[in-house]
This record gives sequence, structure tokens and C-alpha cells, in this order.
Amino acid sequence: MVSRVIPVAPFDLVIFGGTGDLARRKILPGLFRRFCAGQIPPESRIIGAARSELDDAGFRESIREALHEFAASKAGDPDAVQDFLDHLYYVAVDATGSNGWTQLKELMRDDDEGYVRAFYFSVGPSLFGPLAEGLRNHGLAHRETRIVVEKPFGHDLETARALNEELAQHFHEDQIYRIDHYLGKETVQNLMAVRFGNMLFEPLWNAQYVDHIQITVAETVGVGGRGSYYDNSGAMRDMVQNHLMQLLCLIAMEPPAKFDADAVRDEKLKVIRALDPVDPDQIVRGQYTSDGKMSSYREDAENPVSKTESYIALKSYISNWRWANTPFYLRTGKRLNARASEIAVVFKETPHSIFGIDSGRHRNVLSIRLQPDEGMTLGVTIKEPGPGGMRLLDVPLDMSFADALGPEAEEVTDAYERLIMDVIRGNQTLFMRGDEVEAAWAWTDPLIEGWERRGDSPKPYDAGSVGPDDAAFLINRDGRRWRVLK
Ligand code: NAP
Repeated sequence: MVSRVIPVAPFDLVIFGGTGDLARRKILPGLFRRFCAGQIPPESRIIGAARSELDDAGFRESIREALHEFAASKAGDPDAVQDFLDHLYYVAVDATGSNGWTQLKELMRDDDEGYVRAFYFSVGPSLFGPLAEGLRNHGLAHRETRIVVEKPFGHDLETARALNEELAQHFHEDQIYRIDHYLGKETVQNLMAVRFGNMLFEPLWNAQYVDHIQITVAETVGVGGRGSYYDNSGAMRDMVQNHLMQLLCLIAMEPPAKFDADAVRDEKLKVIRALDPVDPDQIVRGQYTSDGKMSSYREDAENPVSKTESYIALKSYISNWRWANTPFYLRTGKRLNARASEIAVVFKETPHSIFGIDSGRHRNVLSIRLQPDEGMTLGVTIKEPGPGGMRLLDVPLDMSFADALGPEAEEVTDAYERLIMDVIRGNQTLFMRGDEVEAAWAWTDPLIEGWERRGDSPKPYDAGSVGPDDAAFLINRDGRRWRVLK
């Protein structure tokens, strides 16, 4: 399948933190792939900015290496790599000082010449405010200028609100692009296409037909490398408040009147506001221990008394007409037995089996996989082939994007590159609005405060296992079970 590529407007994109891990692993390789696809007009420029003293040539060389490491499939073409590198520039700027701002201003082209002007804040969150202020004070922020803000967006409601207020002093909401890369995943957008582009699903998408929903983000990696950040955060703040919450919103929201930024975000906000508080006995927190081969969480976090959760499972309800009494089970964790992210919509059993007691009662499951291989599967019940009576069998109707889109699927589906192109297009639909982020914290904070007040310790689970036993109990006591991670 050949994907249609519509070039964006020419731009000047400044990446603050252009020498950092995220820029090297995701942002620049993503831009390179879009460049190879012909989506980036030749007049565009990408400007790395950080404190390190580098010149353009030094920056280009370091990004050449990054492309070979993180965009290997395209970096085999030396001409393409060189063409791309020729669009790269570098300015040494200190976000909290005065160095470099004048040089950056001189380098930028005016956006009234038709160039989109965007600044990507790929730096630690303590620099988001100073950068916004620096851009304003140095005359770099115009009404059309866009800023892209990475996660984490606040540590709780209070800090998120303060950050929103700080950014709002310098930029309007329609200039602020808060990234949640889960929203850039092909499957997540396909979820909206499936829900609102087909007649088949939406009539069944409610408490009457859906038994429950499971959202799982399971990782095999531990917290090694970012242990001190993670230990101050935990799975609730790092994953649930943002990524899992966003997935839940897209699954549960009402159909927006149109696919535009505010219409979609209004509906997502209503979901978050309708989420019930979660009782303490509906939350299981876990922390991985060494299995003899892999290190424990406390070793990775270098905190021998840490009570931070590397795993969380919870059951929540959305108090509205569509979802009344339908449980949403969420779980996410590190050092689990599989790397798998999935949303599963588990439909109710057929009310009666006409095929007799032996055939049992069956249920359909729509599984939306985010990783490792993005795609969707609808479990349907059919007759087992062959003679011997009416025996029923559950089989998957599988739609793996890699199969459907061919070898280019991997290139097409990278979340960062799609989201960066949306910034240039000025499309905020797949970015979080300030009130959404605050509402998500307002739901999360009391849960965290609750376990901190009680002094709860997370339950231990073996590295490489499915998580703590209590998490299985959380769902099994409702007569349901977690989907098997593969
Ligand atoms: P990183 O590797 O530590 O890079 C930080 C960057 O910021 C470096 O380029 C650094 O360069 C620059 N920097 C630090 N202080 C500065 C200052 N005062 N003025 C200007 N530049 C400064 O961090 P990262 O992993 O790329 O993460 C960047 C952001 O993305 C963070 O908010 C992180 O939470 C978020 N994020 C990262 C990932 C990931 O996979 N890495 C994933 C999701 C979100 P100099 O030292 O040369 O100044």
C-alpha cells in the first residue's frame, strides 16, 4: 500500500534539548523519516539548541550517528542522510540564562514570510516555564508561534495548574501542544476511525452490550537509567495519569460532532470528569523484586526503602448513561513477563445458547493492540469445521497493520513523527489541552494521597512475572480474568 504524503508548510523548528536522548532517539529520526517521505519542504530548517558548545557541523555529525542508530532502515542512503543534515543548525542557548538567545533570534526567519515557527521543549520539566518566558522576553514568540511540551506535565494538580498558568502568561492555549505520544500511535487513531467510521460498533459501544474494558500497558524493562526520576513518580503518575487515561478517554467518549481539536478534547474532558473516585480496595500497587537474574526495583531506583509502585492495577467506573456499572480495569507495570499494550473491549455473553449446553455461551472481544505489533483483532464465534455436529469455536478476525500496510507500516506508524507534523499543520486534536491535564490530576491526586496517608507498601512481584497476585484477585473476584499477555 502506498501512503499519501501531503507536504506541510515550510518551517523553522527549534528543538531545545536537541542534544538529549529524546531528540536523538525519537524527534530527529522521526523528522528524517518524514523528510525521506517528501513531507518536509526543502526550505525548512531544524535548529538544535542546548547549553553544549557545538557548531552546526558538530551537531550534524552527532545526529548522523543518531540516524544510523535509530533510523537505520532509511539511513543506509548516504545522500538522503546528507540532504537531511544540511537542514540542521545549532545554537548554544541556556534556558535559564542569557546566553544564545540573540543568536537564536537572528537565525530565525519571520513567520510573516510564511514559515511556521515552532519550539519543541525536549528538556526537563523545570525548564518549561523559563523557556516560555525566554521566548517571550527575547521577542521570539509571535501570535502564530507554537510550543511543544513534553511529559511530565506537572507532578500533581497544583504543579500542573502552576505550569499551565506559567505557560499561559506567554502563550495562548491554541499555541501549546502538550505531547502524549500514545495519542500519535496509528492504532489509537484507528480506534476513533473504527468507532466513528463504521455503523457496526457504535450501537454496541455501551453498558448494555459491553461487559467490561481492560486497558493494559505492560513493559519488560525496569526503571534502570531513570530510577531517581521514576522513584519520585511511580506508575500512577508516569503512566496512568497520562497514557492510560488518554486511552480510556478515547474508548469511552461520546462521538464528537466533528474531528477537530476542541470537539474531541471536550468529549475526552467529560469522560475524565465523570470518572468515579476509586476505593482503596480497588487498587493494587506492586514493586518488582529480583528473580535472581534481574535486579529489584529498589536496586534500580537506588532506594532500599522505596515504597514507589512499579506496577498498578485498578478498577474504575464512569458515571454516565453510556457506561453506568461497566468496570474499566487498568493495569500497567515494569519488568513484567511481556511487552504488550492493549485495549480490550469485552462484550457480554450471548443471552442464550441455541446450540445446547455443550457449546457454551460466547462473547466477542475487540482487542486493539498498541505494541508490539499495532493492529486490531475481533474475536468472533464460528462453527468448528467438519462433520460432527454444531461445535463452536472462537477465532480472531485479525487486522495487523504490518500485514495490511506492507513493509512501510513501521515507517508510517511512528507516533512522534506524526505528532510533529501535526504541530506544523497547526492541528491540536492529538494533544492534551490544559483543562484535560488538570482534570486527570484532580482524579489521580486523591488516590495517591490516600495510599501515602495510609502508608501502604506496594506488593512485591517477581521480575519477569505477570505482576502481584492481588492484581489477579482484583478482577477474578468479579468473575472475570485479565487477558493473557503475549
Ligand atoms: P536528556 O537526555 O537529559 O536531555 C536534556 C537536554 O536538555 C539536553 O540536550 C541538554 O543539553 C538540555 N539542557 C539541559 N539544561 C539546559 C538548559 N539550562 N538550557 C538549555 N538546554 C538544556 O533528557 P531527555 O531524555 O531527552 O528528555 C527530555 C524531556 O523529554 C524530558 O522532559 C523528559 O521527561 C521527556 N521525555 C523523554 C523521553 C525519552 O525517551 N528520553 C520520553 C518521554 C518524555 P545540555 O546539557 O547541552 O544543555
